[in-house]
Amino acid sequence: MPAPTKWRRSQKAPGKFNRSLLPSPAEYYARELGALKGAGPWKTALCPFHQDTSPSLSVKLETGGYHCHACGEGGGDVLAFHRRRYGQSFIDACKALGCWVEGDRP
Ligand SMILES: [Zn+2]
Repeated sequence: MPAPTKWRRSQKAPGKFNRSLLPSPAEYYARELGALKGAGPWKTALCPFHQDTSPSLSVKLETGGYHCHACGEGGGDVLAFHRRRYGQSFIDACKALGCWVEGDRP
């Protein structure tokens, strides 16, 4: 018997975001920003959102949150960072980070 579903299939974007598939912030930021500096939960790196000459960007490896002390860019997780850096839609960023699960099953 058919189970009730809250998910409606969409022509545009079949599938859904699965947060548990997000890359770890440590791995992601190391790949995007190179070596991260600092001790403790916040690491610093050169900010990709402005012409940075000294590391102004802080990233929190625990959550993926980031904040630039110079230009004010900030967000709550690696997905927000990726969207902002590459100008991608939510879904495109999810796909780029491997956390989009195709759900177009008949
Ligand atoms: Zn900045």
